[in-house]
Amino acid sequence: MKRREFIGTLGVTAAVARIAQAFPLFPQLKTKTTDAGMKVHYEIKTLKLKHTWTISRNSGDVKNNVFVYLEKDGVTGIGEAAPNTRYDETPESTITLIKKATPLIEKLNPWEFAQFSLELQAIESGQTAGKCAIDLALMDWIGKSLNLPLYKFWGLDPNKAPLTSFTIGIDTAEIVKQKTREAEPFKILKIKVGGSNDEEMVTTVRSVAPDKPIRVDANEGWKDKEIAIRKIEWLAKNGVELVEQPMPAEMLEETRWIRDRIDIPIIADEAVKTASDIPKLAEVFDGINIKLMKAGGLQEALRMVWLAKSLGLKIMIGCMIESSVAISAAAQLCSLIDYADLDGNLLISNDPFSGVIFKDGRQFPADRPGLGVRKATG
Ligand code: MG
Repeated sequence: MKRREFIGTLGVTAAVARIAQAFPLFPQLKTKTTDAGMKVHYEIKTLKLKHTWTISRNSGDVKNNVFVYLEKDGVTGIGEAAPNTRYDETPESTITLIKKATPLIEKLNPWEFAQFSLELQAIESGQTAGKCAIDLALMDWIGKSLNLPLYKFWGLDPNKAPLTSFTIGIDTAEIVKQKTREAEPFKILKIKVGGSNDEEMVTTVRSVAPDKPIRVDANEGWKDKEIAIRKIEWLAKNGVELVEQPMPAEMLEETRWIRDRIDIPIIADEAVKTASDIPKLAEVFDGINIKLMKAGGLQEALRMVWLAKSLGLKIMIGCMIESSVAISAAAQLCSLIDYADLDGNLLISNDPFSGVIFKDGRQFPADRPGLGVRKATG
């Protein structure tokens, strides 16, 4: 470029800069807040299950979940905790965690949400369901303040959500048949095993749904590797496409031994809670089941997604018994994953909220700001 042409481009550049100044691309970034502190509220709601829920370690008809509301500058974000006794959590321990976090939240600048996510994780080890409720409420507040659904905020395409499975809990043959018939709108079934009737569970579901893909979840139910491998070989022969957590979380050597001898994928669930658990699992499992309640919220779940992908692990996003609040949160990340298991809100009969939309076997986030959740009507 000749010197004269170069000076000419400088003139153009200066003109572009003047125009940009007059018509700024981001005229009003909505990231200003007042000095008012963030207010924290919480309440316990009892979710009623459509069927008694039985897995290898426990059984129940209702679930008491804790809902957290964070309010500032006229915007309220909502989050949910589904405490799980497997991880030493109860509604009471969740509320204790929320009370511990309250002084930090009250002086929080919510736009520093990523920074805060690390502080929240560090309050104490565990109690991730309570941390999840706070993180979801904070991210809902951010999305609502920006008038953006979170999947758009994170640059994700909700149309790429995979089919979700529907879970059939351990039960008598008659009830299993009924549940399988009720699961007709779902294109994939997940069967809970690890009880005393594993083969019967699978053959009963198959008698009603002969062609549907089937996954099984043993919830750490098989304690002996020889028994576990015989079960898995039988399941593989009967068309089961993957097995979740066949053995107790700490039995990694035994699980690796099994994985070396079978062809269907083995997915970690109880063995993985947060990102720091993932590296040691990369040679033991084929994939991990990320749950917001184990992770401590959406921000840690996203960190887990990227780490697992970098290690070549498949990703399932699962759930506990949860209302539409937490399931709508998980649905924000669906386009990043290989297997969805998001049926928690569909297992309850009195969902206090609406949001996530079940359509053609998939769970889609609502096209509304934040988590896209509203109070249920009627
Ligand atoms: Mg599981």
